[in-house]
Amino acid sequence: MDQIKHYIGGQRVDGTGGRTADVYNPATGEVVRQVQLASIDDVARAVAAAKEAFPAWARTPVLRRARMIDRFKELVRANADKLAEAISEEHGKTHDDALGEVQRGLEVAEFAAGMPQLLKGEVSEEVGSGVDSHAIRQPLGVVAGITPFNFPAMVPMWMYPVAIACGNTFVLKPSERDPSASLMVADLLAEAGAPEGVFNVVQGDKEAVDALLTHPDVQGVSFVGSTPIAKYIYATGTANGKRVQALGGAKNHMVIMPDADLDMAVDALMGAAYGSAGERCMAVSVAVPVTDKVADALVERLAPRVRDLKIGPSVDDGVEMGPLVTAEALERVRGYIDKGVAEGAELVVDGRAFKMERQGYENGFFIGGSLFDRVTSDMSIWQDEIFGPVLSVARAHDYDQAVDLVHKHPYGNGAAIFTRDGDAARQFTQDIEVGMVGVNVPIPVPMAFHSFGGWKQSLFGDHHIHGPEGVRFYTRLKTMTTRWPKGVRGSEYTIPTLG
Ligand code: NAD
Repeated sequence: MDQIKHYIGGQRVDGTGGRTADVYNPATGEVVRQVQLASIDDVARAVAAAKEAFPAWARTPVLRRARMIDRFKELVRANADKLAEAISEEHGKTHDDALGEVQRGLEVAEFAAGMPQLLKGEVSEEVGSGVDSHAIRQPLGVVAGITPFNFPAMVPMWMYPVAIACGNTFVLKPSERDPSASLMVADLLAEAGAPEGVFNVVQGDKEAVDALLTHPDVQGVSFVGSTPIAKYIYATGTANGKRVQALGGAKNHMVIMPDADLDMAVDALMGAAYGSAGERCMAVSVAVPVTDKVADALVERLAPRVRDLKIGPSVDDGVEMGPLVTAEALERVRGYIDKGVAEGAELVVDGRAFKMERQGYENGFFIGGSLFDRVTSDMSIWQDEIFGPVLSVARAHDYDQAVDLVHKHPYGNGAAIFTRDGDAARQFTQDIEVGMVGVNVPIPVPMAFHSFGGWKQSLFGDHHIHGPEGVRFYTRLKTMTTRWPKGVRGSEYTIPTLG
């Protein structure tokens, strides 16, 4: 069986630890390959390669670094189909959805290709007599990215194009569930002209993550994954003196006001709740219709659509939803549906019994879409991130109750409002305590030239990811105050005030 290796110093290399994990095709339920799990020594090798490459890369003119990213983005475009196939095979999402994730990742590379402009500093002339001041941003050194299974190409691309274009060198620790895409992009970066050691991949699990978090030569860590791990990464990384941005889980609400275009809201909810089998950090998992009348109409329109979802393997045409990523994920999602019923929510559509009968797919990790009505905040299906195709309808009497419900949740990644009332929409965007807000847009993922990130328990750290915040995260500020000898008149013994 094929083994997925590490990528260190421009080469695919075997690890030294000897541990491996199975990688599944979730549509068939079969193990398709194995991934090596890095030891502490393997991580040390990758960090050493990145450290060695750093001085020359940081001194490479920013225009040349940006041109490398520009070539990389063209190579990703040319290889998008192949990348999408690898993603779908190991993740289960449909081919079009995988192509979409490659495109959204590519847009970060497009942004990073403008690094000469983004890294321009600030100058103040004559801050004192004969004295000028200027500020620049310099790369940190070796930075690491630790990424989740649900976007094996896009989420790493939120990080390394910006980090590398800023002049850092990078060590990626991708998810062990779908690791193949990481090696494909390593090859494309090399083809684009990234010198050896600028981009490295260590496959692995907690052992590799802990080795990165405690390694003295890693200056910064970007993490995207679940909230408990994000909290741990932030605490451990910062305790070890690193700059950390750790993006966590989500429970995104969509408020539907009585004046909303209900057909538009139903279409939006179908894609946002069931696309990618609900395994998106920006999935809408709670619909909050305002008034019972809106709720009744919404549930009546949603239920047949949920029952009719076209579920199947990514290789089929016209499939709307693939399987879940692992057998454990399937068990967890089924368990939440059981809990919802036990807690008293009304299960309008039950996806638990769904089975793919087709030969070859009987053991896939498939589940049907589920829809709960009358979900309340004391239920675990509202409190926890289910990360599956389960939509909860939580009814609200009025706008204030809807907003209170969003605020009650410890997560604050995204939220949306559907309305035709500009005033209500404006109020919502001002009031709501989340990092990303949609107005008649269910999944308000910011474009690459803005920054992505949640509030509250959905992000630990000071910076959102990619866009201008990404550039700030991957650089540190240096401010120069300059005077030339002509202006010097004897020694100064009091604190310089320069005025
Ligand atoms: P996860 O937290 O299980 O894993 C993320 C990464 O952390 C992986 O690389 C994994 O190997 C590593 N990891 C797992 N357990 C660890 C441990 N005990 N110690 C150290 N490292 C560990 O997340 P996942 O299941 O791969 O992805 C789904 C989660 O990611 C969901 O909660 C989802 O909301 C979240 N997510 C968030 C965003 C965002 O932008 N906020 C984006 C995508 C996914």
